Amino acid sequence: MPIFLSNTLTRSKDEFHPIVDGKVGMYTCGLTVYGRGHIGNFRAFLFADVLRRMFEASNYAVTQVINITDVGHLVGDGDGGEDKMEVSAKKTGESAWDIAAKFTELYHQDARKLNLLVPHVEPKATDHIAEQIALIEKMEANGFTYLTSDGVYFDTAKLSDYGKLSRQKLEEKEEGARVVVNAEKRNASDFALWKFAAESVGRQMEWESPWGKGFPGWHLECSAMSKKYLGVPFDVHTGGVDLIAVHHENEIAQTAAADGVLEANVWMHSEFLLIDGGKMSKSLGNVYSLDDLAAKGVDALAFRYFVLGAHYKTQLNFTWDAVIAAQHALNKLVDVVRDWEKPSTPDTSRVLAFMERVQDDLDTPTGLAMLWDVVHDDALPNDVKAATVLVFDDVLGLALEDVVSRPIRVSDAAQKLLDERQKARDEKNWAQSDALRDNLTLLGFRVEDTAEGQRVREAR
Ligand code: AMP
Ligand code: ZN
Repeated sequence: MPIFLSNTLTRSKDEFHPIVDGKVGMYTCGLTVYGRGHIGNFRAFLFADVLRRMFEASNYAVTQVINITDVGHLVGDGDGGEDKMEVSAKKTGESAWDIAAKFTELYHQDARKLNLLVPHVEPKATDHIAEQIALIEKMEANGFTYLTSDGVYFDTAKLSDYGKLSRQKLEEKEEGARVVVNAEKRNASDFALWKFAAESVGRQMEWESPWGKGFPGWHLECSAMSKKYLGVPFDVHTGGVDLIAVHHENEIAQTAAADGVLEANVWMHSEFLLIDGGKMSKSLGNVYSLDDLAAKGVDALAFRYFVLGAHYKTQLNFTWDAVIAAQHALNKLVDVVRDWEKPSTPDTSRVLAFMERVQDDLDTPTGLAMLWDVVHDDALPNDVKAATVLVFDDVLGLALEDVVSRPIRVSDAAQKLLDERQKARDEKNWAQSDALRDNLTLLGFRVEDTAEGQRVREAR
């Protein structure tokens, strides 16, 4: 069955044709590990994960690369600000290297909770300095670079089709640029490939290069590492929409200048997650992590369910009400599927219909609705339902394999606490009841009080 994908480069939804039959190479711009990944970042990674799962369910052998940005991403995304890693180091007193290691580990934990498949390669920018320098040397040999007092720059005027991803003309970019930070730049859209480390700044992350001691520009790592692990051109490059105008435009320019090819054939971008209709920002205190969600009783998988309910190309508004509703829907689903008989064979026509929807530019909202149609279809035997939703879940990734046909098992220890809690509630001892609820949480169980009494679930 054909796959259709929206391509930012062609501005249309095109039928997907892999470079090598049966294979897909995918690259996703990963987290800048100067801080904890927030739920907006994870919307972008969930999108990439569902895309990979869809390809795999369509029998493609996927190689997925998601990088870790641990150097060179400057505050403001341009060439003038400070390096986010170094700023974070200054603030906390930890070394930039320790900060990178700490937040990479937290990112891995969060990714596991969200049931994100582990990428085949997870390259770090700091492990690929030689490759990045080699790429600049190629661009230099091809006449695309120039030196300024603070670094090596890419001359965007030398590339006739610069700007083809965002379709911004060079002149528009120049007019649009609010401040020309660096008077030595030939064009406002020119960008740093290598920045010199001024002695006065005392950077922790710096390397020798043919041009002087310094560090790579942010865009460079993605061109260098995608080339190393996937070869250029490769099939699909993804990221959030904020990466289109500068980061991805510049990745395309670098690969064209160094190797004379398009970096990737298909460029896909997921829309933003808004919070209460606006931007996430530290000053508003609404930059939420998965821990913030958990503190309000919302599991990572419920956030995943929430994200799947919107198409990746539409902005998604996070509200507590909406995400709690997603948790309830997922709870209901889990309750139902636990009681089904062991999976037999899936319903082929439903699987085909589901695949057709997700192969059409990842229509996950309809995919989710189809899953509920299966749940609600009284004519389908439970064992067929079980097998069918498990096939759907290969793409949706709600970890249903952990719960389908697996009635909840309350351990003896948990049952004892539940009995004690029931007694406390009968005696209207609410403080004791709450304390016992917390103890049950530690054992991995969530308790809800319903009209029929206590109801227990496994926290997932
Ligand atoms: P960064 O760590 O800033 O390099 O961002 C990692 C990924 O998260 C990129 O693909 C961004 O486009 C994406 N991203 C950042 N903020 C949001 C948001 N609020 N909603 C959706 N994606 C986001
Ligand atoms: Zn990137």
